[in-house]
Amino acid sequence: MRATWRVAVVGGGIAGLAAAVRLRDRAPAGTEITVYEQSGALGGKLRTGELAGSPVEFGAESFLMRDPAGGESAAVALVRRLGLGERIVHPTVGQAALVVDGGLRPIPGGTLVGVPGDLERVATVARPAPDADVDAGRPLLGADEDVSVGALVRARFGDEVVDRLVDPMLGGVYAGRADDLSLTTTMPALARSARVEHTLVGAVRAAQAAAPRAPGAPVFGTLASGLSTLVEAAAAASGATIRRGAAVRELTPAGAGWRLTVGPTREAESVDVDAVVLAVPARPAARLLAGPAPRVAEGVGGLDYASVALVTLALPEPELPELSGFLVPGTEGLLIKASTFFTTKWGHLRRTDGLALVRASVGRYGEERQVQRTDEDLAATVHRELSAVLGVPLPAPVAGHVQRWGGSLPQYTPGHVDRVAAARAALQASHPTLVLAGAGYDGVGIPICVRSGETAAEEIITALGGPGT
Ligand SMILES: Cc1cc2nc3c(=O)[nH]c(=O)nc-3n(C[C@H](O)[C@H](O)[C@H](O)COP(=O)(O)OP(=O)(O)OC[C@H]3O[C@@H](n4cnc5c(N)ncnc54)[C@H](O)[C@@H]3O)c2cc1C
Repeated sequence: MRATWRVAVVGGGIAGLAAAVRLRDRAPAGTEITVYEQSGALGGKLRTGELAGSPVEFGAESFLMRDPAGGESAAVALVRRLGLGERIVHPTVGQAALVVDGGLRPIPGGTLVGVPGDLERVATVARPAPDADVDAGRPLLGADEDVSVGALVRARFGDEVVDRLVDPMLGGVYAGRADDLSLTTTMPALARSARVEHTLVGAVRAAQAAAPRAPGAPVFGTLASGLSTLVEAAAAASGATIRRGAAVRELTPAGAGWRLTVGPTREAESVDVDAVVLAVPARPAARLLAGPAPRVAEGVGGLDYASVALVTLALPEPELPELSGFLVPGTEGLLIKASTFFTTKWGHLRRTDGLALVRASVGRYGEERQVQRTDEDLAATVHRELSAVLGVPLPAPVAGHVQRWGGSLPQYTPGHVDRVAAARAALQASHPTLVLAGAGYDGVGIPICVRSGETAAEEIITALGGPGT
């Protein structure tokens, strides 16, 4: 190996950029880091745009402040590392609503992603099945068992709790269904306690007690300057060479390192590096690994993704309730899956001219065709449905934006954690200088992806001989 390490980060989303920053902080001085991003812009699902003169998130909107294990989240730690801590802002209005029978009801508190630890508190939106959550003298789950969230909660609390609470809350994050999504991946704290506790109420309470929240502590934060400033600051702090419009098309083992084929077929470029952080979604990762590591490719390539569209409308002086937004159960028959009242939720986005910015997300797993409707159709349908849910005719929008995110949200089915662990173990044994990072493996969300990228960077540093001093 050369005296100076050369590390390629493939994928310029937040996982890849967090990996690049960690490599800069911990690898020996002089390490050459290059980030290859196939699109024209860094950030992946983080993209701040502009609508009616306001900065608006066209992708991810905010990050969790706390780590599930306690302490601040990896996203907050990265923001601070990049000197942006003072720009963190929190929602000024946190209360959101659920659409039930066409109208809005406040989302009950005290649940874990909609799974209640106190059945009486959810009675305003759903009637839990009586007497189903019985203690059968053993833990809810076996030591290595994984189930879908829906299967567990339906069996213990009945259908209404799933359909009216858990499904819309999980749908808001994954655009997927509780009946398909893995408990271990989407709700790891609940999965852990379900391996000890004998009832679901007991498991929810134990998970909540394991990570107590200081009263009044904010759950979410974002950057007043927009999340793209996090992306730019990470790229700058990493000191990496940034290659935009540079798709990596092939990865070939070369000695202990790798040869990358970059760019279009006719002008393909070959680059040799000592190590690779592969921070792209699971499907492109599987295509790149099909040659060098077919078993690994098979292990990660089966992950399916949902497509969503985000429709943002600028409405002049609409009558909006004092809510951060609302979630829509699939059973309500609406196109809108969730809506955020940006200018109510975030104080820094409030305007003096009465204009409100409202975003709706559209598209559930398996309904990709809805996302392919024209911009005009999506905007008109969202406008009509918003008026119906709010019970007031909304004014015509003065501006609008439609952002499609095709194949963007991973649908982790039960057993995902084990499949990824097996793939990583096989990769580590055969090709220790290539490490997987990002949402395709470790879960959805900015904090999880930051941690995933940082962990990948640490593993690369270990594989190449240990940190710099
Ligand atoms: C609509 C939406 C809203 C969301 N809202 C939130 C939110 O509010 N809060 C939150 O915490 N999380 C949110 N998430 C989830 C979060 O944004 C993602 O989990 C996270 O950003 C994924 O980061 P990543 O780096 O793993 O992947 P990505 O962001 O997908 O980045 C991967 C990058 O790799 C590039 N790439 C792919 N193939 C190649 C190749 N062959 N060569 C080079 N580059 C390649 C892609 O162009 C992309 O830029 C949201 C996700 C979506 C889709």
